[in-house]
Amino acid sequence: MTSTLPSRLDQLPQPLPPQPLTPPPLKPQPLTPRDVSELNRQFAGQTSSRILAWAWERFGRRAAIGTSYQGAGLVMMHLAKSAGLAFPVFTLDTGLLFPETLELKRRLEDFFGLTIEAMEPDLTVPEQAEIHGPELWRRDPDLCCTVRKVMPLRAKLEELSCWLTGLRREQSESRAEIEIFELYHLDEQTGREIVKLNPMAHWSREEIWAHIKKHKIPYNPLHDQGYRSIGCMPCTRKTAESKDERAGRWIGFNKVECGIHTFLPKKVDFQI
Ligand code: SF4
Repeated sequence: MTSTLPSRLDQLPQPLPPQPLTPPPLKPQPLTPRDVSELNRQFAGQTSSRILAWAWERFGRRAAIGTSYQGAGLVMMHLAKSAGLAFPVFTLDTGLLFPETLELKRRLEDFFGLTIEAMEPDLTVPEQAEIHGPELWRRDPDLCCTVRKVMPLRAKLEELSCWLTGLRREQSESRAEIEIFELYHLDEQTGREIVKLNPMAHWSREEIWAHIKKHKIPYNPLHDQGYRSIGCMPCTRKTAESKDERAGRWIGFNKVECGIHTFLPKKVDFQI
C-alpha cells in the first residue's frame, strides 16, 4: 500500500468554455447494481484517495464519512483532508462511550479543523433503562444497538446519497467479503437507496498504523492499553494481540456486529 496521494488536478475536468455555463446536476442519476459491479471492476487496485476523489466528484457533500474513530476511519479522514475533499464527518454517540473516545473527538476536530457531527439516540441511557430495564446491553445487546446506533444512523443516512466507511476486509470474518462499492435499499417502499463506499477495504492493520504514526494523527490512547477495536464501555474488552481484531466486542454473546453494517438489504442485479 502506498499512501502517495494522486494529483487532484489530473482528475478534474478541463475548464468549460466561457458560454454557456451549465450548473452541475444537483442530484446525480441513481446508480444501478450493474453500475456498482462495473465500478468495483474499474476501481479494483486503485488507491483509497482515487476512490474518495470519485465520491467527491459524484456526490460532493451528500457523501459523508461515518466514523467510530477506529484506525481506518482516521486514515480516511486524513486522505480526504489532504486531497481537499471536504466530506462531512459524523459519529454515533451512544452515551456509553469511553471518556478517551469523547476526548479523541475533540482532538480530531482540532487536528483536521472540522466539526464531527454526533448522532445521538432518541432515548438517553436512563430513559432506555426506564423503558427496557437497566443495563439492556447485558440482556439484549441487539435491541440496545438498534436503539443507540442503528436508528440514529438510519436518520443520518436519510440526508445522504453516499456513506463512506472505514471497514476493512482483514478486520473479521464477517467483513472478509466486503466490496469497495455497495448499494443498499434505505427504504424499499419509496425506492430510496444509499451507496456505501468502503475505500479502506484493502488496507492491513499494519498499513493503517504506519500511516497514523507517520502523519501523527491523533488516535484513541486505549489502543496502547490492549484494546484493538473500541466501542461502548460495557461491550468492549482488551484482547490478546493474536486474536480477531473485533474479538473484544460483546464477549459472552453470539454477536460480532452492532447492526449498523447489516441492517440494510443489499440491492442486487438479478440479471447478472
Ligand atoms: Fe448497547 Fe453495547 Fe450496542 Fe453500545 S455496543 S449500543 S452498549 S449493546
